[in-house]
Amino acid sequence: MARYAAPLAKLIDQFTRLPGIGPKTAQRLAFHILKTPREDVARLAEALLEAKDRILHCSVCGNITEADPCQICSETARDRSVIAVVEEPKDVMALERTGEFRGLYHVLGGAISPVDGVGPDDIRTRELLERLKDGTVKEVILATDPNIEGEATAMYIARLIKPLGVKVTRIAHGLPVGGDLEYADEVTLTRALEGRREM
Ligand SMILES: [Zn+2]
Repeated sequence: MARYAAPLAKLIDQFTRLPGIGPKTAQRLAFHILKTPREDVARLAEALLEAKDRILHCSVCGNITEADPCQICSETARDRSVIAVVEEPKDVMALERTGEFRGLYHVLGGAISPVDGVGPDDIRTRELLERLKDGTVKEVILATDPNIEGEATAMYIARLIKPLGVKVTRIAHGLPVGGDLEYADEVTLTRALEGRREM
């Protein structure tokens, strides 16, 4: 059986490791790279390393950023009395796109999922509690995904912070259940934010 030349096999193998890339797509991408001019491939390689080297997590909110604290945490015009808790940095982008939310964020870096071995200590819940200590924050909006893990995470955090006397709300449904926050359109997301209910 004929095999691919070693460098090509290696490239295909690397693509296969990426999320959502099956063997066929990996092959297609690898052959595409072979046809691409060298300087374009160099730019891609450079962009990959630059993103890896220069992007860090904001020490306050956990969002990805080039500077710490991030742009959102540093913005003086933001409403510091409200924090929206989300699972991933891409959810911050989704809420920012609505243009409706002017508070701060807290990125958990995942959701509680016993099946996948992710417990409360594996996401940034302790950091959230720290942020609530000085009494500036009056409301926490739980904007985790409307699926089982997101609901479990919201319920856990609500129980955790309610004793602190902070108002805890959950974004309204109307978001597709089982879905991802980032795929919701701006109108749906704005409505979900407006229709949040106290937990
Ligand atoms: Zn930040």
